[in-house]
Amino acid sequence: MRAMRLHAAGRPLALDEVPPPEPGPGEVRIRVGACGVCRTDLHLVEGDLPLRRSPLIPGHQIVGVVDALGPGVKAPEAGVRVGVAWLRHACGACDLCRRGLENLCPDATFNGWSEDGGYAEFAVAPADFIYPLPPGLTDIQAAPLLCAGIIGYRSLRLAGVQPGDTVGLFGFGASAHLALQVALHWGCRVFAFSRGQAHRQLALALGAAWAGSGDPPAPLDAAVTFAPAGAVIPQALACMRPGATLAVNAIHLDVVPAMDYGLLYRERAVRSVCNATRRDGEEFLRLAAEIPIHAETEVLPLEEANEALRRVRDGTVHGAAVLVP
Ligand SMILES: [Zn+2]
Ligand SMILES: [Zn+2]
Repeated sequence: MRAMRLHAAGRPLALDEVPPPEPGPGEVRIRVGACGVCRTDLHLVEGDLPLRRSPLIPGHQIVGVVDALGPGVKAPEAGVRVGVAWLRHACGACDLCRRGLENLCPDATFNGWSEDGGYAEFAVAPADFIYPLPPGLTDIQAAPLLCAGIIGYRSLRLAGVQPGDTVGLFGFGASAHLALQVALHWGCRVFAFSRGQAHRQLALALGAAWAGSGDPPAPLDAAVTFAPAGAVIPQALACMRPGATLAVNAIHLDVVPAMDYGLLYRERAVRSVCNATRRDGEEFLRLAAEIPIHAETEVLPLEEANEALRRVRDGTVHGAAVLVP
């Protein structure tokens, strides 16, 4: 099969011809129809996250059809379309897993990081950690939901968003444009913060009440940052009402700058968002079908993964980038 593989951080992905993976016990093999491109993939390529294996096939927003079952797998059957997300496996037995926090399991593994992912024609994943997909969505439409969508949903939840709230989204890329649709569905008013003109236009077109980079027209009841820069944290706090929570959706951030305690005082809270649970995935995918969420996508052939990553880095993707083998 063809696969785009990372041989060393800081180098572009190489188009390699490799044998298709065989599903091990408890795993299924998927013929990949589409794979979303996430900023986390860029962090791996640029060396912000340490490589766990090399060479590595990145990609953790995989949509495809099950085409082979490993030993012991009863479901899903071959031919069923499924989605694969970031969390590949969690132990299920540790204190965090038993508290419903499998996203924080110390033994958790991740698709396209701990094991090969979906920048390829085939991928394997544990059958217990894949998702059935709503029939109405195309492969390309479904792919960005699997990380950008799920993690955006978890971020809104951790920010304590309530129906009718005024919600701030800082940085407007793949994840924010999906979170915006969830927040609107909950009857919220959404303010989108971005310096990019194209991103602001997209936010307004999708229903944001305001888009800009300065002071918003009203204080925020909840906010999520999507930008991979610590400087956005004090900027966001300065826009938030007392008692509001800021969820920081970033797997990698440079430095959180020193800030005046007055930005945090009056019970404002800051919390990070780390991975997502299967429950987040199931809830969000159900919600996505119900709303229904429409992902804005730019589709590139698998071989152009490096170009897709460059555009994620430059912030020039309209919505989410999706690779098609
Ligand atoms: Zn665990
Ligand atoms: Zn991701």
